Amino acid sequence: MSFDFHTFGCNVFNDNVMREKLPKSTYKELKKSIDAGLPLKFEVADIVAEAMKDWALEKGATHCTHWFQPMTNITAGKHDSFISPTPDGRVILEFSGKELVKGEPDASSFPNGGLRNTFEARGYTMWDCTSPAFIKGTTLYIPTAFCSYTGEALDAKTPLLRSMESISAQALRILRVFGNTTSKRVVPTVGAEQEYFLIDRDLYEKRLDLKICGRTLFGSRPPKGQEMDDHYLGRIRLRVSDYMRSLDEELWKAGVLSKTKHNEVAPAQHELAPIFDSVNVACDHNQLTMVLMREVAKKKKLACLLHEKPFAGVNGSGKHNNWSLSTDDGLNLLEPGKSPYQNIQFLTFLSAVISAVDQYADLLRLSAAVTGNDYRLGGNEAPPAIISIFLGEQLTSVLKNIADGEEQPDNTPSNILQMGVETLPKLQRDDSDRNRTSPFAFTGNKFEFRMVGSSASIAFANCVLNTIVADVLREMADRLEHTSDFDKEIRSIVRETMEQHGRIIFNGNNYTKEWIEEAKRRGLPNLTNTVDAAKAYLEPKNLAVLARHHVLSEVECHARYEILLENYTKIITIEANTMLEMVKRQILPASIAYCGKIAKSNNELLASGVESRSTKELLASIVSLTDDISDRTNKLEQLEQIPEGKDSFEAAAYCRDVILPQMNLLRESVDAMEQLTASSDWPIPSYTDLLHRV
Ligand code: ADP
Ligand code: MG
Repeated sequence: MSFDFHTFGCNVFNDNVMREKLPKSTYKELKKSIDAGLPLKFEVADIVAEAMKDWALEKGATHCTHWFQPMTNITAGKHDSFISPTPDGRVILEFSGKELVKGEPDASSFPNGGLRNTFEARGYTMWDCTSPAFIKGTTLYIPTAFCSYTGEALDAKTPLLRSMESISAQALRILRVFGNTTSKRVVPTVGAEQEYFLIDRDLYEKRLDLKICGRTLFGSRPPKGQEMDDHYLGRIRLRVSDYMRSLDEELWKAGVLSKTKHNEVAPAQHELAPIFDSVNVACDHNQLTMVLMREVAKKKKLACLLHEKPFAGVNGSGKHNNWSLSTDDGLNLLEPGKSPYQNIQFLTFLSAVISAVDQYADLLRLSAAVTGNDYRLGGNEAPPAIISIFLGEQLTSVLKNIADGEEQPDNTPSNILQMGVETLPKLQRDDSDRNRTSPFAFTGNKFEFRMVGSSASIAFANCVLNTIVADVLREMADRLEHTSDFDKEIRSIVRETMEQHGRIIFNGNNYTKEWIEEAKRRGLPNLTNTVDAAKAYLEPKNLAVLARHHVLSEVECHARYEILLENYTKIITIEANTMLEMVKRQILPASIAYCGKIAKSNNELLASGVESRSTKELLASIVSLTDDISDRTNKLEQLEQIPEGKDSFEAAAYCRDVILPQMNLLRESVDAMEQLTASSDWPIPSYTDLLHRV
């Protein structure tokens, strides 16, 4: 049966539903709030809440939740039913404007990095009316921002919304100096391509590491990984296509514009891409997508892995965050234009991105820092941890020509840019997209930030992008608004950008060793792990830019620094503990039993007069490996206790420098043992089972 597209968005309180369910004046008021980002009057909120509740009840909902995004990279919310008691022992169903607009969860158990002491444990959730409410299961979900009693942001959404305000204001200033008087808002648009692995549920249930850590902590390489390059865009197996179809249907009902699905490079790896939307909605939809990916998988007896590196030796997963800027009247500001002036405007925005990304490369790198991503970035399949921009040769030379423009006979910008005009429209999408190794690639009318991890929220990455670009646009607008020679000033801006920040442009292969060395010569930061990346939260220039745009205060940045490092430490500690548990309760007993089994075989052979060299050799190897496993386990157990008195940075660095290397050593022995053990005697499913069974 085909999907009835009339039911697209049937679970969303979208514009269409609002228009139908709300009195005209209320609808208008609400629209005004949504468009201008203004708070809603309580009388209006009451009417909206009532309509929302009635609509939700019609759809079978019984509960509602203020859905928010604490700094855990996932979402949270408590579910309250609509019931309210009457004196005669019955219930009526109620939902007030106040309940819609503001919630007060006791939020002391969410990460807060010291922002909140328990005596002021209250937090607030506030309705974000720019992202539509929706129903999932029997609950009405209301997207909200989450902050502390004293107003500090405790979530991913609040700073993102703040950064959207900022970039809109600054981009409009630029548009105005270019003579645009009609656009009222500039909105960052984002399409977040989501990669994931899909494996059999029964096998997943048998692996404690997958269940607890989301990644395999052991597993010898399968005879067939991705060497054959036969999975990417290959035929989608029936079980997978059945999953993808159900997922699409759930997403469409929830109003998510799921568009493209295909197999990825690694076996069992796939991708889903939605059609882009405003960054706030894209971010909420990506969260919802991750939730539904997991739920649908469970229903289909599959497990969806969103970890950045579930398997060693095959590709990890990321999120390709496609980012652009669009006006409310539909202009893509990163689209090369047709007239010279449109092109100068395009090149101005392009220069702003180049300058911003170079100045704040460390902050952008930080925005993609989650522990799982450390195992992925810098692997030979993933962008390295060094931020650089891919522009393509054509566009790079256009910018260079403008920068070097003084010597030309007629160097009026329109002439110089004419040259740009001729080349720009010919900039083929395919031409610029061929480089898939760059962490930050211009792909014709948008930038694709490929560093973001597959399990992470895209909120902070976009928040940083918005803020740093807004800041450069602010400086440019300051100049352009006051210049007497507009064309000359533009040319100076492009020239200065190329002189000071051209080093961030790299059109070559980012996966090579040479690039790492070249990047070092250029002075580009190479922050290979989360612990080092976290420091960007404390850099004065980063604190200044985030504060200047009221995106994050210094206090909020410090809190986020603490949260990130604490989180890192917790994850590594949990991984180490999971390893210990698996080794002591599954792997060591199985290894010892297997040694006994081979020893017994050997004795039996000897008893019947057979001297088997291979049996003896095998026995010697597995006995010695089993001892290694035992020794390395004991060592890990000793090291795993983080010494007292370390601050959050030192504790995280200890995990990185002491615990992780010991975990890797233990894994080596276990994986070697796996290779020598009969598959029937190995206690956990192998990589081949996990990667090739669906
Ligand atoms: P691919 O990168 O696989 O070749 P596309 O270029 O078609 O595919 O799109 C990749 C993603 O970029 C999609 O999610 C798409 O919606 C998104 N995208 C396209 N245009 C824009 C834009 N102007 N702003 C943000 N995202 C966009
Ligand atoms: Mg892509």
